[in-house]
Amino acid sequence: MLVRGKKPKKEPLISVGLILPMDKQNSITIYNDLDQKKYFIESENDHLLVNGKKTENINLIGSSKDQIFTLDRVPAGRGFHWEKNISIQVAGSLDISNKNGYLFVINQINLESYLMCVATSEMSGNCPPALLEAQTIAARSWLVAAVEQKHLDLGLDACNDDCCQRYQGIGNLSEQARSAANNTRGKFLIFDNMICDTRYSKSCGGVSENNENVWDMEPKPYLRGVFDGCQKELPDLSNTTKFAEWLKNSHGCYCSNNYVNEEELKQYLGSVDEKGNYFRWEFTYSQNQILKMINEKIGQPFDHVLSIDPIERGFSGRIIKLKISGEANNKPQEIFLESEYEIRRVFHPEFLYSSAFIINANSSINSPLDKITLKGAGWGHGVGLCQIGSLGMALSGKSSKDILTHYFLSTTIKKLYD
Ligand SMILES: [Zn+2]
Ligand SMILES: [Zn+2]
Repeated sequence: MLVRGKKPKKEPLISVGLILPMDKQNSITIYNDLDQKKYFIESENDHLLVNGKKTENINLIGSSKDQIFTLDRVPAGRGFHWEKNISIQVAGSLDISNKNGYLFVINQINLESYLMCVATSEMSGNCPPALLEAQTIAARSWLVAAVEQKHLDLGLDACNDDCCQRYQGIGNLSEQARSAANNTRGKFLIFDNMICDTRYSKSCGGVSENNENVWDMEPKPYLRGVFDGCQKELPDLSNTTKFAEWLKNSHGCYCSNNYVNEEELKQYLGSVDEKGNYFRWEFTYSQNQILKMINEKIGQPFDHVLSIDPIERGFSGRIIKLKISGEANNKPQEIFLESEYEIRRVFHPEFLYSSAFIINANSSINSPLDKITLKGAGWGHGVGLCQIGSLGMALSGKSSKDILTHYFLSTTIKKLYD
């Protein structure tokens, strides 16, 4: 496993979880493309059955550089609105074991081979080189900085999904992604002599967010909110009235349709992302739908909801604290949602694009809401690099360095190994 704060002197080998115990998956078919062998693997009690034969675990070793394994069913988009099972092909080797009665599949792979796949899993391989290179340096830095280490308990450097970084094997690998990895091999984003914790999300919606407003962590000088365009002056978007006014326009942001139109965007997004307008979006819910979501997601049985009010917004207008007021058992009831993640989790049957939204409710004071409309901006937490904005920058001729230093302030790019 990678060690936090340690700069690599040579290309590291990393462990990526493809199927986790939490997926509760009991079977998978794996093909070895080189010798055409097929393994049907099942988890049963505390052991595995491989083609019907009982064993503790199985290690499929990638014997050559071109060795490829095909896995027929791997989760993508765990817990998000785009969740599905996909078939993937991976290089490297595979460790398969039974953990708590379920399959646990780890892919051991060289960092650079992994990164080629991340670039085209996060965005399509047809993207311009500057975007793929910026994305690859960000993905490399984030992983090796190892600040989050979300799966330390499982001994993993990352999982294969949006929770860490989207890794869908070599299936979508393009010549462009290969060159993006080769051209940036060993290059990291550095601040204060440390590898940067380079967070990124799909679309900031026009302004990126300060890291401490999204995660419980110290403010980082290079993870400040920035306007995603050329203009320098910005209204105070933590003020709801100003944010509502600002939301009506696109302001020439790199992630707006001015730089990347919707039709073009479809060909640049990775294969898992469905079409959608992420820069500006809208959802309308009835009182019953709101009650159902609140009840199911936070287990608070309201009789009815009277109002939903943003209490605190971050730099980008993302709501970081929100109040729901109503009645339960004929008594006044109030609850607070205290993070952008929780707000996004509650205000969509699956998961809301972002917490940068305004609430339009059509009701009079002290009567139940008839329906509410959420009008919002962006997709994701909005901290660090904006992927669609980076695409807009790359399409308008900016370099990978321009992109990285636009989103990550005061940083430099440094090569740490050949
Ligand atoms: Zn993860
Ligand atoms: Zn953006």
